[in-house]
Amino acid sequence: MVTRRLILILGDQLSHNISSLKDASPDQDEILMCEVRDETDYVGHHKKKIAFIFSAMRHFRDALRAEGYTVHYIAYEDGVTSLEAAARQVLADTGAKALRCCEPGEARLAEVMAGWEERLAVPVALLEDSRFLCSIDDFADWARGRKQLRMEYFYREMRRRYQLLLDDDGEPEGGQWNYDADNRSGWRAREAVPERPAAALDATTRDVLALVTERFPDNPGDLEAFRLAVTAEEAEAQFQWFLDHALDRFGTYQDALAEESPWLFHSLISMYLNIGLLEPLALCRAVEARWRDGGCSLAAAEGFIRQILGWREYVRGIYWLHMPGYGEHNALAATRPLPDWFWSGDTDLRCLQQALKQTLDLGYAHHIQRLMVIGNFALLAGLDVRSVCDWYLAVYVDAFEWVELPNTLGMALYGDGGIMASKPYAASGKYIQRQGNHCASCRYDVRKTTGEGACPYNALYWRFIDRHADYLKKNARMGLMVGSWQKRKAAERKAIVAWADGELERLAPAKG
Ligand SMILES: Cc1cc2nc3c(=O)[nH]c(=O)nc-3n(C[C@H](O)[C@H](O)[C@H](O)COP(=O)(O)OP(=O)(O)OC[C@H]3O[C@@H](n4cnc5c(N)ncnc54)[C@H](O)[C@@H]3O)c2cc1C
Ligand code: SF4
Repeated sequence: MVTRRLILILGDQLSHNISSLKDASPDQDEILMCEVRDETDYVGHHKKKIAFIFSAMRHFRDALRAEGYTVHYIAYEDGVTSLEAAARQVLADTGAKALRCCEPGEARLAEVMAGWEERLAVPVALLEDSRFLCSIDDFADWARGRKQLRMEYFYREMRRRYQLLLDDDGEPEGGQWNYDADNRSGWRAREAVPERPAAALDATTRDVLALVTERFPDNPGDLEAFRLAVTAEEAEAQFQWFLDHALDRFGTYQDALAEESPWLFHSLISMYLNIGLLEPLALCRAVEARWRDGGCSLAAAEGFIRQILGWREYVRGIYWLHMPGYGEHNALAATRPLPDWFWSGDTDLRCLQQALKQTLDLGYAHHIQRLMVIGNFALLAGLDVRSVCDWYLAVYVDAFEWVELPNTLGMALYGDGGIMASKPYAASGKYIQRQGNHCASCRYDVRKTTGEGACPYNALYWRFIDRHADYLKKNARMGLMVGSWQKRKAAERKAIVAWADGELERLAPAKG
């Protein structure tokens, strides 16, 4: 019998519920999965990221084969360069009459795939990615006619749509939509951080680790202590661990920074969600159920659901609303070269050193490290927007452009001029000190702004305000800060900016 359809499953589409597999059957359809060079090489990904995706793909392949599917699996060693070349080859080999795929998550691939029908000379169906809770069209409808796209209003609609954390009258449980104010405690090391279980390595993962070691020797990161789940069952076990041991304190310490732990009470599930091993709505419902059973505070449950139902869907909506072209924005004209120590973590700024080193070790940093330590430094220093975005895309295991770009370019760097964030997330060392205990182990003094040993974030913060004063004055939320800076004596301002210039030249030379 001639095969009716070939179904292409991409490396971040490892869900049995993916739209391309709906109404598919092993009698009618064959599957194509590929580890191709274009996908491994478009940025120099962290070794753990490549190993994680390849291992999860190979496990998914085995699960589909166990269901009876014929899976054509192009392994990295086969040397195929692109998805298109792989599809062409397997279409010819199988005689399949049509190709089907769930729409890709990244605009770069969507553009290429849009030309496939013509180039591959078969009907190509690109189906909506129904794993997201707000479709691209629904987000565009919500955005239409609004001056500002504030996450909070989007989130409230999503809560209503999915009936999450609502009382019998359809109002938010506890009388408030948002418990953000309860999610900001700093870390003072007064509580124990529970030991996290690592997923066990099996033969498939070991093979992949050997492959990545051999073929990607120059990529960032290492493969020591690979602890990631690579199947839906393992990812679910990690999430259950989070529900039992961390969720209740997740809310309180969501914005905290700790010397003792790279993850505190965070869930460590973004990578599983992003490649399809976990499903967002199921997680939100499980967290709501935990709260209703008395297993966590309302602030913890709401804080977690807001991240998944609110932020995650919102950033994806922003990405597709503004692509192509979003990646070209650079509203603050930031062009300073990325310092080399971003790739080693070798800096004396303790907060930054710890965030960078754990990023390179684990492929993970939590939100406040990404935003207020690394991103904040990049923003204050005026590091080149494109280079910073490429760095984030490379080093995090969970990084895919649809989620990485709005978060980095928009939220952290204010490169989009305010599409994502209502003001730049710029902060001095005081914020970092308030949120955790890095400053106590740092060679810099967070109380000083200038002079030997002064915390570089302080002078850089004022330099940022000075440099962008005209632009920032127009922003209602920044006006006060600009005003307070401009009220200072001219000589004082000059001394701070001169000190900041010197520090910056030492930390991140203008000529790379
Ligand atoms: C500069 C910068 C770059 C980022 N790049 C990525 C990225 O490449 N991939 C990625 O998945 N997330 C990214 N984020 C968002 C967030 O930092 C990570 O999702 C989170 O740190 C993952 O760790 P966790 O699973 O322990 O999350 P938790 O803190 O436990 O949060 C739970 C979940 O909420 C979701 N979430 C929370 N905040 C966001 C957000 N702002 N955008 C989207 N989802 C969110 C994630 O799925 C996360 O797993 C970035 C944030 C910043 C500031
Ligand atoms: S003193 Fe400054 S550089 Fe050092 S840890 Fe604190 S905020 Fe970071």
